[in-house]
Amino acid sequence: MREISLKTLVSFLDAELGLSDFPKDESLNGLQVQGREKIRTVGLAVDACQYVFQEASRKQVDFLFVHHGLIWGGIKSLRGLMRDRVKMLLDAGISLYACHLPLDWHPSYGNNAELLRILSIRNMGEFGEYHGRKIGYWGRAKKDTLLSQFVAEVNALLKTKSSVIDFGKKVRNVGVVSGGGWSAITEADKLGIDTFLTGEPSHSAYTLAEEMKVNLVFAGHYATETPGVKACGRLMEKKFGLAVEFIDHPTGL
Ligand SMILES: [Zn+2]
Repeated sequence: MREISLKTLVSFLDAELGLSDFPKDESLNGLQVQGREKIRTVGLAVDACQYVFQEASRKQVDFLFVHHGLIWGGIKSLRGLMRDRVKMLLDAGISLYACHLPLDWHPSYGNNAELLRILSIRNMGEFGEYHGRKIGYWGRAKKDTLLSQFVAEVNALLKTKSSVIDFGKKVRNVGVVSGGGWSAITEADKLGIDTFLTGEPSHSAYTLAEEMKVNLVFAGHYATETPGVKACGRLMEKKFGLAVEFIDHPTGL
């Protein structure tokens, strides 16, 4: 097992993941909590929370990489749950690194590019504007598929149980925006998207999808945001030879 410095790992990830290209992200992307200086083991998780910190501590993780970090729009206080969470990390010497919108967007390691790859759908281009950036992708499947068959594949590959609204189209052109990306449905029309895959169900998406005749597949916020952190784990393993482990804490939402 190799060992590298925290500084080396952080500088590499900051640049590789293009953090400076997302100044409007509410998440403080990058190193949020500084732990020990030497890194041998990396933990991956979707959400920064006490369960994940406990597991990371038990597994002697040095560096925890998450999609949803602790710091959104600056620190207001270190009281209550926030104090407990930060204390757990500091006591265990674990660094916390967060990557939010850049990890949805990233063409090689991002949630959305990864979702298309996992589903064997050819990536055709960017889709889904959020805070002035397109963070999703749309792609074309090799052949028309029944929605029920497509959903069965999504559920099996992402270990999830999707909520589905069928507006009658077969699945060929799929738009993907992970997490709470429902508003991208407004762009589906002009790209000829017949099926929109996102994380959380949204009431507001229904009538838009109904009028555009676009199928809706809500595969879960958590389930659609595991592929990016896992891809970054493979990157850190390959680049630095670090030991990497995914800490699963599904919310079912
Ligand atoms: Zn999210």
